[in-house]
Amino acid sequence: MPLEEYARKRRFANTPEPPPGEQSTPTANYFCVQRHDATRLHYDFRLQIDGVLKSWAIPKGPTLDPDVKHLAAHVEDHPVEYGGFEGTIPAGNYGAGSVMLWDRGTFDLLGDAAGAEQLARGDLKFRLHGEKLNGDFALVRMKGRGKGNEWLIIKKRDEFATPGWDVESYAHSVLSGRTQEEIAQNLPARKTKRKTAGAADRVWASSRPAKRSVKPAAAAAATPAPAKKKLKSRSAI
Ligand code: MN
Repeated sequence: MPLEEYARKRRFANTPEPPPGEQSTPTANYFCVQRHDATRLHYDFRLQIDGVLKSWAIPKGPTLDPDVKHLAAHVEDHPVEYGGFEGTIPAGNYGAGSVMLWDRGTFDLLGDAAGAEQLARGDLKFRLHGEKLNGDFALVRMKGRGKGNEWLIIKKRDEFATPGWDVESYAHSVLSGRTQEEIAQNLPARKTKRKTAGAADRVWASSRPAKRSVKPAAAAAATPAPAKKKLKSRSAI
């Protein structure tokens, strides 16, 4: 039961996160990245393989820079329904804090081996078709380290590789256009009709993604980033 750990950690009456099996299955080969402002800010990277979202927590976030390798802690499988989730997990719950749907799209596995086989051997290669992340990547398990859940995410050199690429320059939701703070405050989506059902802080995957009128780089230059939580932790989940 791959989703037992996911379900065991959560009380679904107290969190807007979806229980397993609540909604219909999204696109096959879905991938998403959620920016999660929990105890420590991190990015949750998820690939749909064999009916669940295989998941890694990346303290420094994914990158298009092929010269850096970021730690990716392999964590418990999430239900496919989680792939559309954005909102705030209330205090006192597992992973309490705001969750931004930072990127989403589809991916193709590279090579002939099935996803389960690539996972088992600790060397997963794939091509992303996202709104922010594109091109070829590898997730590689580090040998002989800690608890055995430490992997590295690596951007391959291709036409999408961008030396110096800064993940924090793209800190807005592909679902609602909101910043992390706007999500934490339950503010409405930007420049898009708010499509909600049920709890006010639920934003459904059926919403159209909002396009920001200001380019992220320009916005970052105009608005100096506030003192951010350090991204140095190696254990943030
Ligand atoms: Mn997380």
